[in-house]
Amino acid sequence: MRYLIFSDIHGNLEALNALLKFSLKRRIDHYVCLGDLVGYGASPNECIQKVHALRPLSMIRGNHDKAVIGLDSIETFNPVAAAAIYWTKKNILKKNAEFLTHQAKGPRVVDEAFVICHGSPFDEDYYIFGEFDADEAFDYLKLPLCFFGHTHFPCVYAKRENTVEGTFLEGNSNEIKLEKGVSYLINPGSVGQPRDRNPRVAFAIFDSEARVVKFFRIDYDIEDAKAKIIASDLPPALAERLSLGI
Ligand code: ZN
Repeated sequence: MRYLIFSDIHGNLEALNALLKFSLKRRIDHYVCLGDLVGYGASPNECIQKVHALRPLSMIRGNHDKAVIGLDSIETFNPVAAAAIYWTKKNILKKNAEFLTHQAKGPRVVDEAFVICHGSPFDEDYYIFGEFDADEAFDYLKLPLCFFGHTHFPCVYAKRENTVEGTFLEGNSNEIKLEKGVSYLINPGSVGQPRDRNPRVAFAIFDSEARVVKFFRIDYDIEDAKAKIIASDLPPALAERLSLGI
């Protein structure tokens, strides 16, 4: 099976469209979404509808999805992120908010082949930012492969015996072959708000027969995404950060 695994779309329709266009040229058996469809970007409704239409095999909610539907307090959000949540609450259509309420809490097992979570397997809101966090997360995994999101940094943590090694993925294409006897925590990066100073859309394809994960970075119409943010009353800083990839 070939799974296209994507996360953290954050209301960026132009980025999501680039991903969808790319996926039409590849053989993809299933889509798997790691949450945060909304928050930050100016197109929450369109992003929800497009992801819904993809019929993901499996999907989980993110912290911004929860905050928009009132399942999470905004207190933990910084002022700009909180302003975007208020804006999204005001602009989201009822049917789309309803779609978010039906999304499951991670972790979830997909096809008995791998686990997905938004933040970490022990707490859906926890950020795995380094080897120490990853080491704790490995203790909670039911399977030796887990995809997570939330930090917006494409990376791989591998656990061999008792050693955890983290690798941040630089450049626009990367590939890893999964080794037997090694456990993996893998972040495909963010579709709609990359933060590793590479503004391109990030996602991954997992080929379960070949045991290979390929990481992609593709261009999209950033200027259109920025113009929509500026034209709305979202904080303008949210437009600027898209070009910087922060
Ligand atoms: Zn996010």
